[in-house]
Amino acid sequence: MLQNGFKSRSVDVVVVGAGFSGLYLIHRLRNEGYSLRVFERGDGVGGTWYWNRYPGARCDVESMQYSYSFDEELQQDWHWPEKFSAQPDILAYANHVADRFDLRRDIEFDTSVTAAHFDEAAECWLVETDKGEKVSARYLIMATGCISTAQIPEIEGLSEYSGNTYHTGRWPHEKVDFTGQRIAVIGTGSSGIQAIPVLAKEATHVTVFQRTANYSLPAQNMSMTPEYEQEWKDEYTARRMEMRYTPQGSLKDLNDEPAMAVSADRRREVYTERWTTGGSTLLGSFNNLLSDQKSNDTAAEFVRQKIRKIVKDSETAELLCPKDHPIGTKRICIDSGYYQTFNRDNVELVDIKNSVIERITETGLDVNGRSFEFDSIVFATGFDAMTGTLFNVDIRGRGDQALKDKWFAGPRTYLGLMSEAFPNMFMITGPGSPSVKGNMLNSLEQHVDFVIDSIVHMREQGFAMMEPTREAEDEWVDHVQEAANRTLFPRANSWYMGANIPGKPRLFMPYIGGVGRYRRISEKIVENDYDGFSFKASTKPSIAAE
Ligand code: NAP
Repeated sequence: MLQNGFKSRSVDVVVVGAGFSGLYLIHRLRNEGYSLRVFERGDGVGGTWYWNRYPGARCDVESMQYSYSFDEELQQDWHWPEKFSAQPDILAYANHVADRFDLRRDIEFDTSVTAAHFDEAAECWLVETDKGEKVSARYLIMATGCISTAQIPEIEGLSEYSGNTYHTGRWPHEKVDFTGQRIAVIGTGSSGIQAIPVLAKEATHVTVFQRTANYSLPAQNMSMTPEYEQEWKDEYTARRMEMRYTPQGSLKDLNDEPAMAVSADRRREVYTERWTTGGSTLLGSFNNLLSDQKSNDTAAEFVRQKIRKIVKDSETAELLCPKDHPIGTKRICIDSGYYQTFNRDNVELVDIKNSVIERITETGLDVNGRSFEFDSIVFATGFDAMTGTLFNVDIRGRGDQALKDKWFAGPRTYLGLMSEAFPNMFMITGPGSPSVKGNMLNSLEQHVDFVIDSIVHMREQGFAMMEPTREAEDEWVDHVQEAANRTLFPRANSWYMGANIPGKPRLFMPYIGGVGRYRRISEKIVENDYDGFSFKASTKPSIAAE
């Protein structure tokens, strides 16, 4: 138990992370009069948009929807230059919000929380940072994001490589100039698929190492038109309300009709319209694409035909055609010219599905008996998602139980917000909540509101501690898996399933039952006097008052 030195500093709330969740938390906590300390490992705000600065990084949820709704003046004032914003614009927005609401003064940058232990006698969390700082707080809020622990695979020889290596999720702050370089890109998920077309325009040669071919749809991105922007701004109140109760927390044109209810010609027509519209709208072509294999096959084949048409070399085209998982069951990728990039003379695709990268050498890579030489290697190899960042902190609850131990077979939460035996520890968009299966900005606002409202409720009712009951948590964990099992999602080796990390338990981590449904369930729980949560009055004087 972390004990020594904690007397010196105590606040009501410690928040870990100053991404979009952390920023809104500061705003709300301050308005409610709580003292707080926020620790952020980066030297700026923005979370995922602070770290993921790779060339081509862009959000694939429309900016008019992927933005805060909590302040009417903010949403009216801010101008997004494009339909799908590029990373620098999203980071500029995060910085604007931090300045506009004067949020920085509570944040300690360049500081990672290393441990957080619950002290049962003192009824508070004892938090320690990598700077040796120790703080006690009644509440601990993990606003650490879902995909924030970058993963570089353990490939023999990595330390011997003499060129530069990069990970898309830890990209340098200064511009990296690949002019004149031969580069390798390992990984063809959303990050790789966004980066490759941009890198190919700069580097002398790009070799793409693909383990799993992924489905990618064209963003059809465009500049924001004044009419479109104004229409959204005029309708913001009603549209934000509507978004909150939709399946994915965003307004998309979802066709409530099964794929097989219409003719093959009509299906092709619908898919073509949506391919032309862009973004992930194709997945909403019919209401059962993610639950019925035969219907899914029709959309998957449509995309494969598009790939075969775009990519001139038929062998490369075939390698790029995904065939081993239903479309949408790995995170759908949204691109700007990805498949077209393979028509360039300076781009080569190397399929490594059946042949791992054997070793990294001093000058490149050895794969399947072939040696490659590279000036730089770009790892677009993803993240230890949903749980990795939480496990990087030594979190211990009641009885000195480690979160990692409790979750050894997979995350166990109630609503993705709390875990039994970890009193007053909240997670924003934690595993078991819709999180990555919806518009993150919409989901994190709901979670922040839920958490702050719960803390205020405790203050008003004279409670000191809150945690879910074991029964409520067990039921929720089962419900999350049942919801996933009604879909095709478990059929893919995705990071949603933990499949990208060797040894990670294989189960679907986000809640797929729908963002709107989840919100209604949460509202009902509060209406029913926080059904499934247990509260305890304090036996101690207020920590913050000490
Ligand atoms: P990812 O989807 O996990 O993709 C990682 C890629 O690296 C996969 O192709 C994977 O192959 C490959 N890989 C991993 N380990 C490997 C190894 N040892 N050898 C060879 N290949 C290996 O990661 P990501 O592309 O960074 O995206 C993660 C998530 O971030 C996305 O799904 C999305 O939610 C979010 N994101 C969003 C946006 C956006 O809004 N536009 C952009 C970027 C990222 P396998 O598939 O075979 O595992």
